[in-house]
Amino acid sequence: MTDNTAILERNNRFADRFEAADLPILPKLGTLILTCIDARVDPAHVLGLELGDAVVLRNNGGRVTPAVIDEIATLAFMVGKMTGNPDPEFNVVLMQHTQCGAQNFANPEFRHALQGKLGIDVSNSAIFDQETDLERDIDRLADAPGIPDGLKVSALLYDVETGRAREIVSPRKLAALRTR
Ligand SMILES: [Zn+2]
Repeated sequence: MTDNTAILERNNRFADRFEAADLPILPKLGTLILTCIDARVDPAHVLGLELGDAVVLRNNGGRVTPAVIDEIATLAFMVGKMTGNPDPEFNVVLMQHTQCGAQNFANPEFRHALQGKLGIDVSNSAIFDQETDLERDIDRLADAPGIPDGLKVSALLYDVETGRAREIVSPRKLAALRTR
């Protein structure tokens, strides 16, 4: 595809049956999903999200990086201002997937080549072992002082070969993780 003709045609069909003008800005499910940018892992499809259901953050690997922490802290601050509750309850779902391109970042040679060529450090985004990395990402959130206690966090692993997401860590309050 060399231009936007096809996607604009799809948007036309979408707009023709659009009925979501009155959606509120806050997500209906009170949920933020962090996942990978991989085209096979679109949460709207694999988790059946409708418009307005959830906030979705995506990056290479879907890992909790300093940039992600800043995004979530900013969002929580904004929601706090909008709702008048400085510690809003929010469900954060971390979703990694099988066959992830960010597994390349675990290779020191690849990482060093990228660092040398572009000066970009992807060590925080590397996928080594999804289950361990998901646990580590929950710790990263718990260790981040700007993230409010009211957050609930859980972790899923999505299998690109079966379409099935498996719960690796069930939802738990960040406040409880901080008092361990
Ligand atoms: Zn990926």
